[in-house]
Amino acid sequence: MKSEGFTTKILHNDRQSKIEHGSLHKPIHTSVAFEYDDVHALADVFQGKACGYSYGRQNNPTTSALEDKVTLMEGGVDSVCFATGMSAIISTMISLLRAGDHLISSAFLFGNTNSLFNTLKTLGIEVTFVDATDVNNVVAAVQANTKAVFVETIANPCTQVSDLEGIGEFCESNNLLYIVDNTITSPYLFLPKSVKAGLIINSLTKYIGGHGNALGGAVTETGCYDWSQFKNIYDNYKKGPISNWGLLQIKKKGLRDMGGTISPESAHHLAIGAETLALRMERSCENAATLARFFESHQTVKKVFHPSIKSHPEHERAQKLFKHSGSLMSIELTNQVDCFDFLNSLEAVVASSNLGDNRTLGIPVAHTIFYEMGAERRASMGISDSMIRLSIGIEDQNDLLNDFDRALTK
Ligand SMILES: *Cc1c(COP(=O)(O)O)cnc(C)c1O
Repeated sequence: MKSEGFTTKILHNDRQSKIEHGSLHKPIHTSVAFEYDDVHALADVFQGKACGYSYGRQNNPTTSALEDKVTLMEGGVDSVCFATGMSAIISTMISLLRAGDHLISSAFLFGNTNSLFNTLKTLGIEVTFVDATDVNNVVAAVQANTKAVFVETIANPCTQVSDLEGIGEFCESNNLLYIVDNTITSPYLFLPKSVKAGLIINSLTKYIGGHGNALGGAVTETGCYDWSQFKNIYDNYKKGPISNWGLLQIKKKGLRDMGGTISPESAHHLAIGAETLALRMERSCENAATLARFFESHQTVKKVFHPSIKSHPEHERAQKLFKHSGSLMSIELTNQVDCFDFLNSLEAVVASSNLGDNRTLGIPVAHTIFYEMGAERRASMGISDSMIRLSIGIEDQNDLLNDFDRALTK
């Protein structure tokens, strides 16, 4: 069957290779090991001469089905899944970078990624954080030992949009590996391949899963980067098409050796979530854009951070690159309203740290997810003490509007 649409592709992917009993879902395979009738076939799998399953830490049929879906969604060449988004990021970094290498990263980062990159520094990998909304800051940070550039699409919590196209062009002409964390946009709103990213990271825990019931992460190879230019690929992994070298090294060094394997049960949950990504994103982005306009006109809201707002510094860029402006936003309240009181008085909105859930979640940023980094780094990221981050869900719009209106005018 030939199907081109985003949702059709995902819905029917499992059926493309026949499943026992005509099952429509890839079953959850919990087996750790896999039997081969002929030991030669087992040896071929180990030597990379044949595809197959060897040991559950490295691959699993249920996980492969999810990997295929992520690859399809991203328009990539291949993907590898991990237990979490963080596991996908560290496995990629440790597999590809060595002591003495230099990484340029956006300064506007998911808090744990920021902490992780500071850990990389202690391992001898230099990291420079730059304002990635302007490619010139990336250009200025390049050193002789720079290997890669890492950015997020829409940053959390202030929703800055990286200069995704400019950085892509610069990386391409300078043979730098361009890694884009697509979590906040998801492949439904944006394809990093379109701006020449070499590798894409997705936390599947967020929008792709959507139901807040399973953790997972993925790295996708786009085919855009010429791995023959990357000095850190081991000879063992210079096998097959050049576009596969990087991901093969991540599979071997990152997944096999470091062991951040996703469970087949989680892979199943996330694959089910992926089926409705497009529908959920349409609804949550529409809710978010409406709420952004509502907050903008509300006198107790001092500032709204959402790319749909015309005064947002990267509004034009977001309009051009993304299908919608996403459903993550932040607000700053005026001094009359205490952000804790406000959150406590919300009823439909859940006080919780996750994002990308079907439910609308809210959290006071400076006191929780960005607490550990300290006041100085928070200030440099534009995070005030009264900032509240909201991950807008798929509830009925009027219920959200009424809940926020009541809590703000209380
Ligand atoms: C949540 C998140 C991650 C980490 O994903 P986990 O699955 O929670 O480990 C990485 N990047 C971004 C942008 C995220 O929002």
